[in-house]
Amino acid sequence: MGIGPNEFRRVVETLKSRYRLSYPLHIRPDDPFATLVGAVLSHRTKDEMTDRAFERLFSRYKTPAEVAEAPVRELERLIRDVGFYRQKAQRLRRIAKMIIERYGGEIPRRREELMKLPGVGPKTADIVLSFAFRIPEIAIDTHVEAVVKRLGIADEKDDYETIKRKLERLTKVEDRPLINTLFVKFGKEICRRPIPKCSLCSFTDICKYYRQQVSLKRRITRP
Ligand code: SF4
Repeated sequence: MGIGPNEFRRVVETLKSRYRLSYPLHIRPDDPFATLVGAVLSHRTKDEMTDRAFERLFSRYKTPAEVAEAPVRELERLIRDVGFYRQKAQRLRRIAKMIIERYGGEIPRRREELMKLPGVGPKTADIVLSFAFRIPEIAIDTHVEAVVKRLGIADEKDDYETIKRKLERLTKVEDRPLINTLFVKFGKEICRRPIPKCSLCSFTDICKYYRQQVSLKRRITRP
């Protein structure tokens, strides 16, 4: 059984009081192009590496026009700290070109349009919408997904859109832009992967994963 609106509100309020709302360097609230580039760079890469590549790239190229015109070898050199940097350098140039040619240099504000950009999937689109445009979408990354599934809000088999829908149903609209940041911080500190630190958690009384672990231990230790 999953958690209800009251329990979920308790989770959000607890996390709000525990964590400060700070962002990694590669997330630039109010700068849609920078946030889009940061989200592309961050795919399968740790924040520290993404930040380093992002800073190096943005010290040279700051706009879609500049990135579109940049030599791809130069982009590769600047972002070499991130995983798949060759593919990402190509992708950034293709994205920048499409933004200029199809959208007049402006980052689209609609999810369907963002997802037409090369290599931009739902998570990247939701990051841009929620952080840069402050549109109440929730970006589901691996930390958010793990927390949500363990709490029993979503099922193990649920895909991105299903998890997002279930989470949004429980979240007050004004809290939606905070959920990614709060759950990522919680996922990095306590509800870690692969082994969560449940002994430090305030949600053991409502957590599906915790209940399952307790009953599993009981079965194993029963004489
Ligand atoms: S009890 Fe454990 S699994 Fe559940 S939310 Fe807390 S840390 Fe995560």
